[in-house]
Amino acid sequence: MDTPRKLIAGNWKMNGTAAALAEIAAMADAARDLPPNLTVAVCPPATLIDRARVAAGEGPLIVGAQDVHAEPAGAFTGSVSVEMLADAGAKLVIVGHSERRADCGETNPDVRAKAEAVVAAGLTAVVCVGETEAERDAGDALSVIAGQLDGSLPANATRLAVAYEPVWAIGTGRTPTALQIAEVHAAIRSDLIARYGDAGAATPVLYGGSVKPSNATELLHVDNVDGALVGGASLTAADFLAIVRAAVR
Ligand code: PEP
Repeated sequence: MDTPRKLIAGNWKMNGTAAALAEIAAMADAARDLPPNLTVAVCPPATLIDRARVAAGEGPLIVGAQDVHAEPAGAFTGSVSVEMLADAGAKLVIVGHSERRADCGETNPDVRAKAEAVVAAGLTAVVCVGETEAERDAGDALSVIAGQLDGSLPANATRLAVAYEPVWAIGTGRTPTALQIAEVHAAIRSDLIARYGDAGAATPVLYGGSVKPSNATELLHVDNVDGALVGGASLTAADFLAIVRAAVR
């Protein structure tokens, strides 16, 4: 998939079994009527990717993955490679989610290696960055994010999206103000343009953290917000599609 300018991606995290495939089928049905400049993706657990791809049918709904190992194969018990994800039907991979950075000790170089593996295999990498609450309170949000971008982004912007996900907004019901989001997204955009030129201007920059049907219209219309990475609200087709519709308004 060439990365489109607008992208709404759902991250199911460690939720979902076969019973949840009906939600994906419903998302896929609705996605058929969306404008072509908006891509919608859902990232179920790795165990569901191939069945999700079947449930999504031939329509435009993209199925993605939540993580990948940077190496192509080998003695990495429990891990999956990008070739395996592609074989299962994934077209996009989230890398560097704050839960993996915090819970699994993933560093910026780890995230960059994963992103490089993803784009080299022809899939889209969604690289996540974002500050903790303590970092924001200390006035360090922009410098933390600049460091994450510098350390995590792949060498070129083909098949790349960036997700700004303030750690304190994930799963908490709290969101930054529109001004705070605009400030960070403008800084990310400048970084991407300085790094990649025109390709950086065209790279989608998503907002993530407690996006819901009730706040999606406001969040998705902040300057330089090109879509959303959605956690909890992506688990049901009704909520996820309400967010997707807010992106087309
Ligand atoms: C996420 O974890 O990527 C996320 C944005 O979660 P939520 O929407 O539930 O805050």
